[in-house]
Amino acid sequence: MKHSACVPLLVALVACGRAAPRLTLLEGAAMGTTFCVQVVDLPAALDARALRARVDEVLAGIDRTMSTWDPASELSRFNASDSLDWFEVSSGTLTVVAEAQRIGRLTGGAFDVTIGPLVELWGFGPPEPRGRPTPEALAGVRGAVGFEKLELRATPPALRKRDPALRVDLSAIAKGFAVDEVVRLLEAQGACDFLVEVGGELGARGRNPAGAPWHVAVEHPPPAQGVAPCRVALVDCAVATSGDYARFFEQDGVRYTHVIDPRSGLPVQTGVASATVLSASAMEADALATALMVLSPDEGLRLAAREALAVRLLVRVEGGFDERRSLSFPAREP
Ligand code: AMP
Ligand code: MG
Repeated sequence: MKHSACVPLLVALVACGRAAPRLTLLEGAAMGTTFCVQVVDLPAALDARALRARVDEVLAGIDRTMSTWDPASELSRFNASDSLDWFEVSSGTLTVVAEAQRIGRLTGGAFDVTIGPLVELWGFGPPEPRGRPTPEALAGVRGAVGFEKLELRATPPALRKRDPALRVDLSAIAKGFAVDEVVRLLEAQGACDFLVEVGGELGARGRNPAGAPWHVAVEHPPPAQGVAPCRVALVDCAVATSGDYARFFEQDGVRYTHVIDPRSGLPVQTGVASATVLSASAMEADALATALMVLSPDEGLRLAAREALAVRLLVRVEGGFDERRSLSFPAREP
């Protein structure tokens, strides 16, 4: 998560006629990315400005704890420490790390939040000079990567390193957690119909202003051709997409993307251009979408079949993309 300051308050109220539903739109920046919240018919007791302040606080709280770009965040302080003692963390951080470890086990280590040293070495984290590292530098950090080297304690919530060089990077899962947290906030405030987006990950409840399910377009990797646009209806669920085009650099004609295979230490070369996951939990969808960039398309679809996951992959093939959907992913709309 790249840190950036919140933009000034921007609240737009769109009145759609007397009896028509009212849409409240909250937009801004947080967690190094942007967010957008749309609420249909805000409960009368809920003021848009007050809601905006609460959404800002939820997202700022996640940044304060889980950002790897803010050296003062809880996670950055854990990463900087070389102690092998328990390090107390917020319950939110523990929730996210526990889910990350579950997805790590589920994917046979394809998803691994101890990827931090490799992310930094390849230049996709702070301080960020990008370039292919030397084999010696790679060998030097690979020993510090492995989710089994990270221990969790529930009460009081704490993390413990088994290797002093261990560094945790929650960038692949924290945006999804943020969506779930804003969804929980809105539900607790009595809102029923809304769409939440943080950095491209989405969660929805109820209906859109037209009274239909929220429909969202799945981001397409450039060039935007060769595959029909994919739209999905979000009925009380979430969707997340990962792509090899989001952050990458090219060197000697090779594309190095920001998703790294923890088993090789190298940016992924699976041919998966984008992976989309639908799930009740945006946190789960976010982590699985990243993991599906690491697994080969066949491995990913086998995992989806075994776990009944709703997955859509776009695989790079000569001249375009091959689209592959798991059985649980909605069929293409006519
Ligand atoms: P996302 O955009 O959700 O796919 O997350 C990508 C980010 O997750 C990268 O920029 C890295 O910071 C981090 N990351 C890279 N590879 C992995 C991996 N194999 N497991 C977990 N996190 C990763
Ligand atoms: Mg992700």
